[in-house]
Amino acid sequence: MKIPFQSIRWRIQAWHGLILLMAIAAFCGTAYQLAWLNQRGRIDRELQKQERALIREITDRSGGLPSEAGTVQNKRIPYPQELYQKLLSGGIEGKDTGGEESGEESTDTLYYAFADADGRVLLKSANAPERIEFPSFSEGGGMLEEMRMNGTNRESVHSFDFGLRSVVGLDISADLAEKRRFAWSLAGSGVALWLGGLLGGWWLAGKAIRPIQSISRTASRIAEGNLNERISLSGKDSELDQLSRVLNHTFDRLNATLEQQRQFTADASHELRTPLTILLSESHRMRKREIPRSSEDYQESFELCHEAAERMRNLVESLLLLARQDSNPPGTEGIDCDLATVLAESISLIKPLAESKGIRLKSELPSMLIRANPELLSVVFNNLIGNAVQHHGGKGRVQVKVEANERAAVVRVIDDGPGISPEDLPRIFDRFYRVDRSRSDSQAGHSGLGLALAKAIVENVGGRIEVASVVGKGSEFRVVLPDG
Ligand code: ADP
Repeated sequence: MKIPFQSIRWRIQAWHGLILLMAIAAFCGTAYQLAWLNQRGRIDRELQKQERALIREITDRSGGLPSEAGTVQNKRIPYPQELYQKLLSGGIEGKDTGGEESGEESTDTLYYAFADADGRVLLKSANAPERIEFPSFSEGGGMLEEMRMNGTNRESVHSFDFGLRSVVGLDISADLAEKRRFAWSLAGSGVALWLGGLLGGWWLAGKAIRPIQSISRTASRIAEGNLNERISLSGKDSELDQLSRVLNHTFDRLNATLEQQRQFTADASHELRTPLTILLSESHRMRKREIPRSSEDYQESFELCHEAAERMRNLVESLLLLARQDSNPPGTEGIDCDLATVLAESISLIKPLAESKGIRLKSELPSMLIRANPELLSVVFNNLIGNAVQHHGGKGRVQVKVEANERAAVVRVIDDGPGISPEDLPRIFDRFYRVDRSRSDSQAGHSGLGLALAKAIVENVGGRIEVASVVGKGSEFRVVLPDG
């Protein structure tokens, strides 16, 4: 079952949404804090200004105070000690409303209250709240001042060691309402921004994922058998284009390998069909009893069947050997063997054929030890020397030489036969490739696998085969084998 939340797009979206939410929350929180600090600073300055004016007005009403000598040194608000004495003696009247004695409702939002050390209210404005909490005294003596919130009021509170405590406050409900409105508008914009960001992120993630989906769809179609299809490139040389190029290259190689396999199977079947047809037709012919046959006739048919069977066996053996070479990792372990001995055996095997064709087989075989599998080496040299003799027109010479080359042994098989044309030369190591197919077909054992097999064996021991040929002059095959 397909789980959508497991997809890359959803995961990108989830992380994007979370990070965006945190960023917007941090931004809105900071903006809200800064705005409130700014607003509160303004309120505090206003409150202190009004407090200063209040004290001045109260002292003025009480007929002024003698001097500044007894003033507590508060930078902002002068609270003369004499003010306390007058308040204690009840000699000061409240501002505007005349204090609580008048009982009138004040329309002013500023309220105040003064108390002595015992908490006795000395003076209080009519609009002051019922319960006022006066500040305690500073432990180290002197003055204690503080700004605080009391419900929807902002208060400036003071306490002086000579016994006076004051609370001057301002109703700031309007500012608090404004603060709340600001918070809501910030939250609203934040949520809108977040939703916009989510939509944008979803679109971007989709855009980023689309090429991957296209790659995956194309790869699925190729896997289903549409082997010639390839992933189209955007041409921007992005990471995805690079991946597509690598995949296309892999598909090309896979396709080529599959094509080779197909061709190989077709060629092998074709090669097997000829001897099989001979076997079947001959055996069928011999089974027909109505036609009387001589013993020579039977003998001839048996010969043909035997030849066909031999041809099939050679072909199957070559195929098996080739398959084993393909599955063997290069550098498979061998034993120490003398190249001269292996070559001498191959020469003696081919000598009768060479003599029958009037070809002289010459050899220079100094002893040379190498590390390899002697049976596989025999297959290589039988093929090379056999080819030189087999494809020779007759009446000529084939030379086999062994030479030492720094850290390598070189075996050269040189003939003065017909040579190989430049068009055929690059292809003679291909499997089932024969220069003259019609002629080779008639020759048992020549299926075009010989050189392909030799190449696979030599390359598996870390060596290489090279060929040089001139039409009408002859060919030279060089096998370079690593020493020891
Ligand atoms: P085959 O089994 O037909 O010999 P090989 O793979 O051994 O197949 O050789 C491929 C082809 O290369 C041959 O069909 C032959 O035409 C050509 N060839 C190989 N060796 C020689 C040679 N020494 N001189 C001329 N032609 C050669």
